[in-house]
Amino acid sequence: MSTPFPPVFDGHNDTVLRLHMAKPANNEPFLKGDDRLHIDLPKAKAGGLGGGFFAIFIPNKKPMGGFPGTKDGDTSYAFPLPKELHRTYAMNLATGMVARMLRLEAESDGQVTIVRGADELTTALDDGVLAMILHFEGAEAIDRNFDALHVFYAAGLRSLGPVWSRPNIFAHGVPFQFPSDPDIGPGLTDAGKGLVRECNSLGILIDLSHLNAKGFWDVETLSTAPLVATHSGAHALCASPRNLTDKQLDAIAASGGVAGVNFHTGFLREDGRSQEETSLTEIVRHVDYMVERVGIDHVALGSDFDGATMPTDLVNAAGLPKLMAALQAAGYGPEELAKIANGNWQRVLRATWK
Ligand SMILES: [Zn+2]
Repeated sequence: MSTPFPPVFDGHNDTVLRLHMAKPANNEPFLKGDDRLHIDLPKAKAGGLGGGFFAIFIPNKKPMGGFPGTKDGDTSYAFPLPKELHRTYAMNLATGMVARMLRLEAESDGQVTIVRGADELTTALDDGVLAMILHFEGAEAIDRNFDALHVFYAAGLRSLGPVWSRPNIFAHGVPFQFPSDPDIGPGLTDAGKGLVRECNSLGILIDLSHLNAKGFWDVETLSTAPLVATHSGAHALCASPRNLTDKQLDAIAASGGVAGVNFHTGFLREDGRSQEETSLTEIVRHVDYMVERVGIDHVALGSDFDGATMPTDLVNAAGLPKLMAALQAAGYGPEELAKIANGNWQRVLRATWK
């Protein structure tokens, strides 16, 4: 790593989906670099990205509407949530995307590794090998008996969000609307409660980003692991239901957990606009707020690279040193930067994984 900063370990990206949905699907753009990707190996090296949660996300069958951008006067929005997916559709795509990650690791000549344990993660960060966590964003590919959960665990699955925003047999997520409170809809189903217990017993991290408030509090009651929201900011600063209320932030901290600040401009800005012309200081503002509220040990980064609208100065992973410099300029010293960059993630994963 050639940056003056500690390697950044990142809470969320949708890069695998990009690779998998491209025609033809292949891993060369990632390995050699491609302008269309926010994260690829050359940009990771240039930006000091040490690794992160690589999401397996099952796309909607029909695209949702676009978020309000620069020219829209009214920045409020409310999209109906897509319908539940059929499990066979989800299972086929999930299998394909997991295979894509396994092939990527195999084709990378030792430059990429899928980490399955905390020591592996530390070693990869120390050695400059890109550390991927196999993460499910939404559990549509998992059945009620958890057979698929065990099979995917054996393949490397170590983190799972019960829902992306659309509902499934386990839980209900927050809709894409602004402004809005996250307290919308019912909590975990009985199957969802079983999923939390099964993840706890396997040592799979449970991701609370995208869960609605009742689901969040159900996990808070049930789970024996630290609470984690991989890619969500502060609701007090941007009233998206994808962000965390003060009470949720307090609960995450009380459990020893962590929240990764999302770089999507529509989740950062007070006006909720998805607009590239957004200063990096918006990310710093969320970090500051969360550090002030719950302490430096519970705040990290969760970019949403390859899945959202990034600020101009951080259009891809190569821009991460600019963010680290902005955090440094805001007064964070070396130890604090190390915690935000990767230390908090490492601590929480070590406490969660078996
Ligand atoms: Zn997401």
